[in-house]
Amino acid sequence: DLSQLNGHIKPRYVRVNTLKMDVDSAVKELEKLYKVQKDETVPDLLVMPPGSDLHAHPLVMNGRIFLQGKGSSMVAAALQPQAGWEVIDACSAPGNKTVHLSALMKGQGKIIACELNEERVKRLEQTIKLSGATNIEVFHGDFLSLNPEDPSFAKVRAILLDPSCSGSGTITDRLDHLLPSHSADNKNYDSIRLHKLAVFQKKALAHALSFPQVERVVYSTCSIHQIENEDVVSSVLPLASSLGFELATPFPNWQRRGLPVFAGSEHLLRMDPVEDKEGFFIALFTKTTNKLDNPK
Ligand code: SAM
Repeated sequence: DLSQLNGHIKPRYVRVNTLKMDVDSAVKELEKLYKVQKDETVPDLLVMPPGSDLHAHPLVMNGRIFLQGKGSSMVAAALQPQAGWEVIDACSAPGNKTVHLSALMKGQGKIIACELNEERVKRLEQTIKLSGATNIEVFHGDFLSLNPEDPSFAKVRAILLDPSCSGSGTITDRLDHLLPSHSADNKNYDSIRLHKLAVFQKKALAHALSFPQVERVVYSTCSIHQIENEDVVSSVLPLASSLGFELATPFPNWQRRGLPVFAGSEHLLRMDPVEDKEGFFIALFTKTTNKLDNPK
């Protein structure tokens, strides 16, 4: 099983659900079993040795900690939603980033968690229940069907968009590609699939930028493909700038930035599947023009 192999080479990351437990108490509890360090990038994230087995730990079972990777934990942190804001999580199941948003907002304000797939809505609801979050409204439907002009979204200030992607940043996916069975037919199928994913990713990102009061949009994938990452971002840049958005730099101390394929790609954040043990991509758009018209 390839995912098992994954567990042996990668550090284990644990996100503390600060709705239920503070970081220092979690460190104290987990130190009884393994060496624990605080992650240097994400404040509520802990790093443990590869192979640390926590899946049946009481803290996991009762939702005080979540087994969530570093890339995944950086997305809501990059968005920096404030307590009391209204936020949309556009593609939310199974909900790891949704409940992270809730924790960062100290359980205050409102999160609209949108998910198209019915089975996955159930998983989303379980995650929310486990987290103890009470400020999340689930919407079962297509994010693209939400009308940005609808008064119910008039106060939405931030959107997290983590759409379906190829998953090519995960080791299982990369090892699959090395198998002899991965024929020319597969490769052709892959490129059609990537193209379809990118079409949706671009539409969804443009849609997110079009909500009138939104001032922060984060876009993320667990893909290493330029077509799902830099190309998606560059395709919406004209629209973004016409709406007053610019690219901001999530985690400025992080070294690895976007592939240098357009001016501004240095704002983007990449994680490398080999060097960083995980392939991930994050872009952050922020609106600066109407600050004076819209004081907090
Ligand atoms: N953000 C999630 C997390 O951290 O747990 C993972 C999201 S996963 C990469 C993408 C999700 O988007 C899938 O659950 C998929 O069913 C959903 N999705 C795909 N197209 C959608 C659409 N048009 N509207 C809403 N959700 C959609």
